[in-house]
Amino acid sequence: MHVVVIGAGVVGVTTAYYLAQRGCRVTVIDRAHDVAEGASHGNAAQLSYTFTDAMARPEFVAKIPGLIAGLDVGSRVRMDPALVSWGLRFLGQCTRKKWTANTLAVLQMALRSANLIAELRAAVPIEFGHRTAGKLVLLADEAARDAVVSSVELKKTNGALLRIVSADEALDIEPSLSAFNDEFVAAVYSPTDAVADSHVFTRRLSDWLRASDGIEFLLGTEVRKIRQNDGRFAAVELDGDEMEADAAIVCCGAWSARLLRPLREAPPIYPVRGYSVTLPAGAAPPTVSVTALRHRIVFSRLGDRVRVAGFADFDGFSTRRDVARIARMVESARSVAPHAADYEAPDQRAWGGFRPMTPDSRPRVGKTGIDGLYINTGHGILGWTLACAAAHDVALCVTGHDTGET
Ligand SMILES: Cc1cc2nc3c(=O)[nH]c(=O)nc-3n(C[C@H](O)[C@H](O)[C@H](O)COP(=O)(O)OP(=O)(O)OC[C@H]3O[C@@H](n4cnc5c(N)ncnc54)[C@H](O)[C@@H]3O)c2cc1C
Repeated sequence: MHVVVIGAGVVGVTTAYYLAQRGCRVTVIDRAHDVAEGASHGNAAQLSYTFTDAMARPEFVAKIPGLIAGLDVGSRVRMDPALVSWGLRFLGQCTRKKWTANTLAVLQMALRSANLIAELRAAVPIEFGHRTAGKLVLLADEAARDAVVSSVELKKTNGALLRIVSADEALDIEPSLSAFNDEFVAAVYSPTDAVADSHVFTRRLSDWLRASDGIEFLLGTEVRKIRQNDGRFAAVELDGDEMEADAAIVCCGAWSARLLRPLREAPPIYPVRGYSVTLPAGAAPPTVSVTALRHRIVFSRLGDRVRVAGFADFDGFSTRRDVARIARMVESARSVAPHAADYEAPDQRAWGGFRPMTPDSRPRVGKTGIDGLYINTGHGILGWTLACAAAHDVALCVTGHDTGET
């Protein structure tokens, strides 16, 4: 069976891996000249298996006017028809019942991913700096602490290993927090969450797939259109060329809807922009991943470097304000953790990417209404974390072992 995977981000390349495991001949196509040039390039690098809370929740509704008015430094919102339509669907998910179902669905997928990535690491000889660093989410005050109690309990009773710790316990777990300026009364600690660079993973896995499984990568090649005949996938149209195959899987992250819209199969995905800066470690860098919730930023230790990532801007596919937004994020990071990184270093790597967000924070994985056409997209803030489980599921579905419900 010949399968075309469209998109060579962490999701597409992991999908190719599981398809090859199931005996498929695979061609991966990406318009970029290398793999992992989209959201998978410079994300926060966290395998956040237990931080799966859906963004749409009842408490979020009261924050929306402030977000639109620009009162939250970690977010910029520019209303346009696409955001209004997505936002209405998002509002429909802001009930306790839906939040619980969405959070648990993603948690189950994340926990399966943790097992699958362990299996993949044992089976494939690639090094990508995987480290079970643990994760601390700092809670600024009692209200912030109270707000997470039910979510922590829910996830604990459903298989996640995490707990609320006092500020003193958090300091024992991560002593460099004593050099943070941020006030916190407690933290959520998840010892099993890990850190690893998804760009390095995707590149090394793709190299290994080329060499050992004969998977073909067509890079620098845009898929212009997906052609179907009588409700069955026929071919992908490339620049002046086309490629027929038995099946195709759209793994185009935030851009997935563009390809699927003409087929009336577009999932509800909004591109939510976030940023990262990778800096040399400072005098007191954290070893554990740290989230400063109030400031919407995270700190991840990658070897001798620290990656600061965060912010969530709703401004379509615009990149116009990247320089100012990255400067603002670095300013926040420096004020929160002045000794975590060398903020003056000349060799800083700044980056911006689009999270493919769905209104319910659940990815869309499986069949479409067109036979032979599948999707694996919409992983939002957790695409690196969920990649293995989602890819495993869609590969089963393509090879006829699942119903393919998305
Ligand atoms: C600031 C930030 C921090 C994040 N932190 C984390 C984190 O710590 N942990 C985590 O789990 N997740 C995190 N994420 C989310 C994660 O990065 C994404 O969910 C994930 O990378 C999505 O992977 P993908 O392969 O679906 O999409 P992408 O990596 O965006 O890949 C999509 C690919 O499709 C290609 N493409 C699009 N259209 C076409 C076409 N027509 N023809 C050919 N190719 C096409 C693009 O070139 C691109 O390479 C973060 C995201 C951001 C922005």
